[in-house]
Amino acid sequence: MKMKLTILAACVATASVLASNDYPFQPVPINGVALLDGFWLPRFETNRLVTVWTDFHKCEETGRIANFARAGKLEPGKFEGIPFNDSDVYKIVEGAAYTLATHPDPKLDAYLDALIAKIAAAQEPDGYLYTARTLGFTNGMTGKERWSSMGGSHELYNVGHLYEAAAAHYAVTGKRTLLGIACKNADYLCKTFGPGENQLKRTSGHEEVEIGLCKLYRATGEKRYLDLAKFFIDMRGRKDLRPLYGEYNQDHIPVLEQTEAVGHAVRAGYLYCGMADVAALTGDPAYIAAIDRLWENVVSKKLHLNGGIGARHKGEAFGENYELPNESAYLETCAAIANALWNQRMFLLHGDAKYIDVLERIAYNGFLSGISISGDEFFYPNPLASRGGYARSKWFDCSCCPVNIVRFMPQLAQFAYAQRDADIYVNLFIASRASLKTPVGGVTLTQTTDYPWSGDVRIAVTPDADGAAFALKIRIPGWAVGRPVPSDLYTQTAPGSLKDVLIALNGQPVPLALDKGYVTVKHAWRKGDTVTLAFAMPVRRIQAHPAVKDDVGRLAVERGPLVYCAEGIDNGGHALNLVVPDNTPFKQGSVTILGHAFVALTASAFSATADLRGKRATHAATVTMIPYFAWCHRGAGEMQTWFPTSAEHADAICNVKITASHCHGGDTATAVNDGILPKNSGDHAVKRMTWWPDKGSAEWLQYDFVQPETLKGCAVYWFDDTGKGACRIPASWKAQVLDSNGHWTDVPAAAYPVAKDTLCTATFAKPVTSRTLRLAVQLQPNASGGVLEWQAIPAP
Ligand SMILES: [Zn+2]
Repeated sequence: MKMKLTILAACVATASVLASNDYPFQPVPINGVALLDGFWLPRFETNRLVTVWTDFHKCEETGRIANFARAGKLEPGKFEGIPFNDSDVYKIVEGAAYTLATHPDPKLDAYLDALIAKIAAAQEPDGYLYTARTLGFTNGMTGKERWSSMGGSHELYNVGHLYEAAAAHYAVTGKRTLLGIACKNADYLCKTFGPGENQLKRTSGHEEVEIGLCKLYRATGEKRYLDLAKFFIDMRGRKDLRPLYGEYNQDHIPVLEQTEAVGHAVRAGYLYCGMADVAALTGDPAYIAAIDRLWENVVSKKLHLNGGIGARHKGEAFGENYELPNESAYLETCAAIANALWNQRMFLLHGDAKYIDVLERIAYNGFLSGISISGDEFFYPNPLASRGGYARSKWFDCSCCPVNIVRFMPQLAQFAYAQRDADIYVNLFIASRASLKTPVGGVTLTQTTDYPWSGDVRIAVTPDADGAAFALKIRIPGWAVGRPVPSDLYTQTAPGSLKDVLIALNGQPVPLALDKGYVTVKHAWRKGDTVTLAFAMPVRRIQAHPAVKDDVGRLAVERGPLVYCAEGIDNGGHALNLVVPDNTPFKQGSVTILGHAFVALTASAFSATADLRGKRATHAATVTMIPYFAWCHRGAGEMQTWFPTSAEHADAICNVKITASHCHGGDTATAVNDGILPKNSGDHAVKRMTWWPDKGSAEWLQYDFVQPETLKGCAVYWFDDTGKGACRIPASWKAQVLDSNGHWTDVPAAAYPVAKDTLCTATFAKPVTSRTLRLAVQLQPNASGGVLEWQAIPAP
């Protein structure tokens, strides 16, 4: 084992020497870090033993692997699925290869060999590899001929992931099988695309090939791969050379002119990673200036609290600056991963801890929520609030996220450390042992910690030769010193400072001076030297920049690097109705979820209710919070992250059951009883229910009371979005109750008025006593409709 590791380390070292320019800060090789018992070890083991195989089996079940065998004529059959499914298989291979670096596994190794033989068979003689086309599959994405529909085909996206997988497989196993396939494909691309007269001047609709080409360049030293990566990036936005795809694909203006992160968030993240790689490998300062600007934009205006990016479901895209919704936030797991990979690269370029602050926020929150504790269920979007009903899935038709998790998880260990010359950087606090080669000799760092539950970290420094002098640069997390994110987007109400940090070398306190977020411990190191870190971990309240309108009047809760949330299951079935005052003290406890014990927090809070008149009230309650990443393991209930500090922003609990003939998926029936009256019938700022897209139909909305209620009337505020949509006030309506035979009977009233921009009140001819009340509605012809508020008016 030890000997094998040495050989592997040599392979990796050779590979990186081939690139003469590269990142000034270098990560440790993937096989240079072994995890020890702590927070991440069970997750890495679950990834290695469960997620890798779950993903491979799903790819077998869904034809993703058969597509290669079929394209290679190893078995009969047609193409199955979506043309970018090839990439799913490559991503799992990449992840599997990383796990082999620290855990040799003959079964997995043999599985990869057999799979790679199928991939080899699927490759066409000239190097082209895209199973959909080889199998004659066409749809709107693929285009008639090779490269004829590059905006949607994912032909280059797929092979970008092939290259990443090949570089990983080669670095870890030393086998050239997959690398050979990748290089044959890349050589073909180098002939096909480029500045030459007979070469295509095009680029991919989905970035990724740029990252892959840079990795192939590092693995082989073939500079044409780097040149092609730069060519594809420089083709973006060049309307003088080619028709553009537009903002969705970051192809609206040349990359060097881009200042705002726009479009599909995963595409953007991969583009920025590719730009960072090319900048490092070529030393191009214009690229660096461009990604620095884009990074400033994202961390100041487009980063969610869980580290996620891509606010909008529509287009899986970035929103406007400060458009950071909670319940409707998209925040694809892949986008979190792309953002993390980009921030790791930004660190490698600049050596500043602020990038690792973002990476850490993603790792512990918006990335980790994407995978269940059991390792076999996945979130695609990672919202910051839920009305209930949203849960992880076993797989998706478009399954980019499960296979991205499997390759990202093992890389985290590598991100924990870095080097520049003799300086050693400790970036993440992960129980682990790292073996580093430095100009002053080999060094082993052994990190023991219970982080993120505790802020205590112990690092044993063991140089091969006593007296080796070098600097240990220890990242002081931004959350510990009053800067939870490196911008003014999120701030602590009671900011931490260096007073909350203690660092000691062999028990002697080290003076704390921050340089780019690091404390430097210079020393002539001897076996037995130990650095201890202590970061105070009080519960801290987080406020968003006032321009984030979804967080106005709300504060979030964090402890260390973890964002906390409340789930219905710990809070009497509801979470959205909770009000947590800004000064409430928290108590630390624990919660066990699927056998894992996590730090839970409790505090005095309020719950908000609305009575039959819609009158709101608050009641003393105790709120229990758990780490955000762990939510949704005990049923798909309500969840909330940004807590109102006063009742006016809370969703009051309905004390009636509300059902409807139909409610549009983007709306919610409970909105009609939240006690919030709109400004007018077109008010989009308040929640609503609609029967959309039903039009012209008879519909109903129903209250079931806890006990019979005597009512003298009811009042409805109708939704009408004339000028924007196709919802109108209804043609007519009436109230109904269930009679003793179980039939709905009309409740007589002098009038059931229909009007816009006002509460339409019907007074019953005489009070009725009933456990149910129904609103029977006839929609206007060709129009849908909806309700903003519906009040049942009790008789005195
Ligand atoms: Zn995804």
